[in-house]
Formats: sequence, C-alpha cells, structure tokens
Amino acid sequence: KPTSNANFIRTIMESDLAEGKVNKVITRFPPEPNGYLHIGHAKSICINFELADEFKGLTNLRFDDTNPLKEDTEYVEAIKQDVAWLGFEWDGLFFASDYFEEMYNRAVLLINKGLAYVDDQTADQIRETRGTLTEPGQDSPYRNRSVEENLDLFSRMRAGEFGNGEKVLRAKIDMSSGNINMRDPVIYRISHTHHHNTGDKWCIYPMYAFAHPLEDAIEDVSHSICTLEFEDQRPFYDWVIRECEMPNVPRQYEFGRLNITNTVMSKRKLKQLVEENVVDGWDDPRMPTISGLRRRGFTPESIRNFVRDLGVHKGTGVVDAMQLDHYIREDLKLKAPRTMGVVRPLKVIITNYPEGQVEWLEAENNAENPEMGSRQIPFSREIYIEQDDFMENPPPKYFRLFPGNEVRLKHAYFIKCNDFVKDENGNVVELHCTYDVETKSGSGFTGRKVKGTLHWVEATNAVPAEFRLYEPLINDMETDEEGVTFLDHINPNSLEVLNGFVEENMKDAKAQDKFQFFRHGYFNVDPKHSTPGHPVFNLIVSLKSSFEA
Ligand code: ATP
Ligand code: MG
Ligand code: MG
Repeated sequence: KPTSNANFIRTIMESDLAEGKVNKVITRFPPEPNGYLHIGHAKSICINFELADEFKGLTNLRFDDTNPLKEDTEYVEAIKQDVAWLGFEWDGLFFASDYFEEMYNRAVLLINKGLAYVDDQTADQIRETRGTLTEPGQDSPYRNRSVEENLDLFSRMRAGEFGNGEKVLRAKIDMSSGNINMRDPVIYRISHTHHHNTGDKWCIYPMYAFAHPLEDAIEDVSHSICTLEFEDQRPFYDWVIRECEMPNVPRQYEFGRLNITNTVMSKRKLKQLVEENVVDGWDDPRMPTISGLRRRGFTPESIRNFVRDLGVHKGTGVVDAMQLDHYIREDLKLKAPRTMGVVRPLKVIITNYPEGQVEWLEAENNAENPEMGSRQIPFSREIYIEQDDFMENPPPKYFRLFPGNEVRLKHAYFIKCNDFVKDENGNVVELHCTYDVETKSGSGFTGRKVKGTLHWVEATNAVPAEFRLYEPLINDMETDEEGVTFLDHINPNSLEVLNGFVEENMKDAKAQDKFQFFRHGYFNVDPKHSTPGHPVFNLIVSLKSSFEA
C-alpha cells in the first residue's frame, strides 16, 4: 500500500526556481556501466526524470565510466534498453569518459593553484595515514612537492612512465579535517587498462569523487540527486566545483536508497549470482534487475507507480516485496485476458458425453472489463483439471471433486465424480464423471447449487505448456551471522518447473504476453524459453487468494 509520496527534492526545486537560483531544472541519471540496472536504480531513474519533467526541465543519461576494469559496452546497451523500457527519454546521452581531457586540465589547474600533489605512497600507506574520526591524519612526505615537480610528474603519469599504483594525484586540503573525505583524497590513479570507450588513450583515470562533480558541472546539471551514502562527500563535491573554477554550480541532494525484503540490491552481488550460475543470467525472472522483472512479467507502469508512491525521503527503510506485487496486480487487473491453464494435470473422462464430439463454448475474456470481449473454448469427453482439485477422502469444507460430489466447470457444465482410477503406486490418474447438459453456463439454470468452481482445459485441443513458479531467491536475511553471506541464504525452492496445459487459443501466445490464469495468478510468456506451439509461462504474482474453490 502506498505510504506517502512526499518529495523533499520537489520542494527544493520549487523554491530554487521561485527564487531564481536556477532557471532550468537539469538532472541526470548517472549509472556506472558495470552491471545491469536493478529496481533500486528504477527509483533513481523515476526521481530524476519525473522531477525534471514536472518543471519542464531536462534529464541526461550519463554513463559514469571512470573505472575501466569493471565496465563494458554490454552494460551500456542493457542500461539504455532498460531506461527506455521504463518509459523515459533522455535529453543528452553522455559518457564521463568524453570529459577526460577536461578533467585532466582541471587537475592541472589544481596543481597550479597548489591544491594537488603527486604522492608516491602505496594505497595501503595512504589508507593507514588517513587517521580516524578521533585522530587527525598524517601528512604524506610528498605533500610539499613544488608545483613544477607536480606538473612534471603528473604529465609523466599520463604519458605512461609509471606502473599501476606507483603514484597518485591527491587533492591538498586538510589532513586534520573532521570529515575524513577531505583529508587529501586521491583524485587520479594509474591504471594501464583498456577502456570500453577511450581504448588505450589513457592510463590514468579520475576517481569517482573528483569526476562526478565535474561531470555534473560540465552538463550544467542544477540538482545532482544521489543516495545518502554520498552525504559525507558533499563538502568535497562543493570543493571540486569551487576550486576547479567550474562556471556552473550544481548542488548535490541525497535521498534514502530503496531496499526490499529478501532482495540483494547491489550490482556486485547480482553479478556474483550470475557468475556462480545461481541464476540463468542478469535477466533471470527471480532477479531484481529491470531485465529480470521485465522477463518475469512486471510492467513499466507497475514499477513506476510502486516507486512513485514510496515518495522521496531522507530515511532508509526496507520495503516489503509484497508491495510491488500489489502494483502489478492493480496494473494487470483490467488489462490481462483471463484464461485457463492446468499446471498439474489430472485427466477427467466425462462418461456420458458423446465420443468424438467437440462443442465450442463462449468464455468472457475479463469479467471486470467487458470491453475485452469473449472467446470460444472447446469442450469434449476428455478434459484436464488440477490434481489438487480432487481428493479421495476430503476434509470438511472441501468443495471440489470427491466421489459423489458435483462442481461447476468454469464456462461449461456441472460435473459429478462417480469413480476414479489409480496407478500401481496408488496415485489417482483418472476420474470418471458425468455432466448435466441442463447446467450449461449462461443457460440460466437454477435447479440446484454447487459450491466449487474449477478451471479445466479440454484434452484433445490442449496446448502443452511449461509453468515456472517462483519464490524469493533469497531467504530471510535477518538471521545474518558473522561470516554468513547472502549466498548462504539462497532459497533452494525459488524455481519450480511444471508441465501442464493451456487453452487451444494460446498456441500462438507471443513473448511477453500476459494472462491471468483463473484461480492461479498472473503469468508472462517467457521470451527465452518459449518455442512455437509450446509456450513457457512465468508466474508474475499469484492472486491475492489463490485456489479458493
Ligand atoms: P550498486 O551498488 O548496485 O552498483 P551504485 O550506486 O554503485 O549501485 P550506480 O550505477 O552508481 O550504482 O547508480 C546510479 C544511480 O542509481 C546513483 O545515483 C545511485 O545512487 C542510484 N541507486 C543505486 N542503487 C539505488 C537504490 N537501491 N535506491 C535508489 N537509488 C539507487
Ligand atoms: Mg557501484
Ligand atoms: Mg555508484
């Protein structure tokens, strides 16, 4: 259920525009192309695009590609596809790597101003001398190199004269600052690594904290929206803008990131699931990636509405995964045709129905949306029902089939169970029933009432189908102990594959078509595993109260 859609960033934008602090709202969504987007990113995407839109502003899609070791063009393409699929059109499409020359020049400016120096210490030494919250850091022995020496060394770093890690460029700020991020942070490192965009042109790369404010300023971003863990970086962000003498002054605002129960939400961890083959790719329907949610059958509308109703807050909370289910049910309720599918088939012979005869019955496509019309479905002497819909010795209040009981077949007739057949293992493999021609659906029959209504599929025309039922990929993580990772919490039952049947008219179901299977839930035609004549259905979400007969 929606919480509050209050949004403190909207309030800031309103007053910035009213006071003339900015004359146009410009935002950006700045993913690092080191993995596929997840639903947490969807929150950031919606905030950036929707706010800019509200104020007739602009939003850029900018790839924050300053770390060549982890980045790849595959991810760039996937991210573009996902943002577009969510329904957003970016104004500018940019790469941070396109600004490397300008960033380099700004670093040179800092050196010239005595505000940056080349440090020969190792990464470990730099970390160890950074100090703690209660103790100041220690100056590097290289902190007082002359401007000339720094300029010379920095240009030789660029020219490739040094190996990885031999030297870094650090901002010269304050080794005793109360904010550890201000204790001479590293702003350039050496990495002889091929870059997906700039190739081998560079062997030094700017650090994220230095690059990001410059990227924002270069693009004239007005409101740079990020998540709360960057709050402590804001003083350095402002320092970079000021000391690099950027003509445009963006401001950073932080909001609480989205977390969801039983869901890991970090590209690093999601990548691990892919690489260790826990799932069958970034778009596995159990993944919280945008591509996984798409393949599972979630719609852009359901994701956008979910995110929008959460609002934008400073707090971090964990949202129950059930909330997302609510939004997809709402979105598909009137859109998805309702049909019948049997996931664990049990054959039923209607012994008093003429052999070889098939009749076609009218079935409405969506009882809540008459505009969706109706279809014809076959009925004959042999049908399939669910195994669960028969019990030899039923408990009280079981209104489905058992010997001597009568039920309604949705869109068809009443049938009564007279007999059943077991195999050598004692499993019931066939029912023998009789139907009553008087009870035809739509005939207005009122002679007697039955309590159970079952779904079914006519056997001779049935289309074989695979059903993939899902549970959360990760079990409850609250029991987290020392040394236990999310990989120790993988739910072994997260995927169940069943072979059943669907109605004859579904043989041509197309990838990504969505249906509500009566009494089961909403399903999506899987784009990877479906083959002509043999659809594979992913369970998106069950009905709120499944299997009430
Ligand atoms: P991850 O740890 O999953 O890789 P990230 O923050 O490193 O996430 P980026 O590619 O840098 O990923 O993210 C692009 C934008 O998306 C950033 O502005 C980031 O703050 C935002 N973002 C990432 N995860 C979430 C989340 N769970 N909720 C809201 N926004 C998020
Ligand atoms: Mg990251
Ligand atoms: Mg990041």
